[in-house]
Amino acid sequence: MKHSKKLGINSRLIHSGEFENPLGSATVPIYQTSTFIFESADHGAKCFSGEEDGYIYTRIGNPTIHALETLVADLETGTQGIATSSGMAAVNTIYMALLSKGDHIVSSAAVYGPSRVVMEQHWSRFGVESTYVNTANLDEVKAAIKPNTKMLYVETPANPTMDITDLVECAKLAHEHKMVLVVDNTFSSPYLQRPLELGADVVFHSMTKFLNGHADIVAGMIVTKDDALGKKLRSMMVTLGCNMDPHQAYMVIRGIKTLGIRIDRSQGNAMEIAAYLENHPKVAWVKYPGLKSHPQHELATRQMDGFGSMISFELKGGLKAGKILMDNVKVAILAVSLGGVETLIQHPASMTHSKVSAEAKAKAGITDGLVRYSVGIEDVEDLISDLEQGLDLV
Ligand SMILES: *Cc1c(COP(=O)(O)O)cnc(C)c1O
Repeated sequence: MKHSKKLGINSRLIHSGEFENPLGSATVPIYQTSTFIFESADHGAKCFSGEEDGYIYTRIGNPTIHALETLVADLETGTQGIATSSGMAAVNTIYMALLSKGDHIVSSAAVYGPSRVVMEQHWSRFGVESTYVNTANLDEVKAAIKPNTKMLYVETPANPTMDITDLVECAKLAHEHKMVLVVDNTFSSPYLQRPLELGADVVFHSMTKFLNGHADIVAGMIVTKDDALGKKLRSMMVTLGCNMDPHQAYMVIRGIKTLGIRIDRSQGNAMEIAAYLENHPKVAWVKYPGLKSHPQHELATRQMDGFGSMISFELKGGLKAGKILMDNVKVAILAVSLGGVETLIQHPASMTHSKVSAEAKAKAGITDGLVRYSVGIEDVEDLISDLEQGLDLV
C-alpha cells in the first residue's frame, strides 16, 4: 500500500488501494479482461500453485477489483477484502463458507429482508438452523445460543427499525462461545463504524448503498482481519462464481472518493429532518440514532462516529397515512435501496421486507405503518418542505 494508515479517513478514501501503475495513470485503470497471458508454461503453473503472484482469470482475481478490495479492507481496518457481485452474494458466500449441516446461527430479527429469507427458506433445506432475536437486547442473544451455534450475525443500525446492537459485547459473547461475529455494516459504512475494531470477525457491505453512493451499481464486499478466515471466504466466492466485474469495481472506487463529504452532508440533513418529524403533530414516532429519544442513543454515540442518514417513522394515521405521504412526495423518490445522493422513501412491510412472515415482522418491530426514509444530499429546506406538503395532505 502506497500510503500508511496514519492518513485520515478522507485522505484514505481517495488514496488507499493497491494497483500496479506502469503508465502513471491518476485513476485505477479498468482491466476489462476475463483472462491474463502467462509469460511461459512454467509461469502459468506457478501462478496456479501459488509459488508466484500473478493474475490468472478474473473470477479469481483482477487488478481493478484488487484495487477496490485493498481500499475497502484499509477503510475497515481489515487485512483482506473480497469483492462480490452484490451484497446478497456476500451474504451467501459468508453463510456457505462458514456454516455446515447441523450448525445454528443467531441473527438480528430486524435485518435486510432477503438475508433472513434466504436463511429460513433455503439454507434450512441444507440443515442450517436459525434463531432471530432482538440483538440490541443481549439477554435475548444469550438465551438463543445453543451448543451448535457457530455464527452471530448482526446488523446495526438494524434495517429498518434503526435498533443499535452493542458490537463490543456481542464480540465478547461470540468468542466465549467459539462463534464468529459477522456484521452487516451497510447502514454506516466504515466512515461511521468499523466493526473489526470492535471485535467482529467478518464485516460486509452492500456497496450498492453508501460506498458507491450514486444508485447506479449493485455490488458487495466482505472484509476480515484473519488470514485463514479470509482465504476460506475468498475461495468460496471464487467457487460460487459471484465475483465482481472490473467495470463495476471502477465505478465503486469512483463513488468511494466522496463518501466522507456525502455522509457529512446527508447525516446533517438527517438530523434536521428527524427533529422536524419528531415535532410534527401527525407523526406517531421517529427512530433516528441521533435523537435523544432513540433507546440506544448513548450506545450509538459510543460505537459510531456519526448517526448516519437512515430514519424510520410512523404516522399517527398508520399505513393509510404513510401511503398518502409516499404517493405525494416530489423531491424524495419512492424507491427501495438507500445510501445514495438522492433521498428515497419506501414502505418496508410491503416492499423490502414483504417476504418476511407477518409474525416475524411483528416480532422484529417492523410495523405496517413504518416508513423508511434514506436522506440524500439535497438542500434540507427542500426536503423538509417536500415532507411538509405531503403531510398536509394526510
Ligand atoms: C441492500 C442491502 C443488502 C443486499 O445488498 P444487494 O447489493 O442489494 O445485494 C444487504 N444488507 C443491507 C443492510 C442492505 O441494505
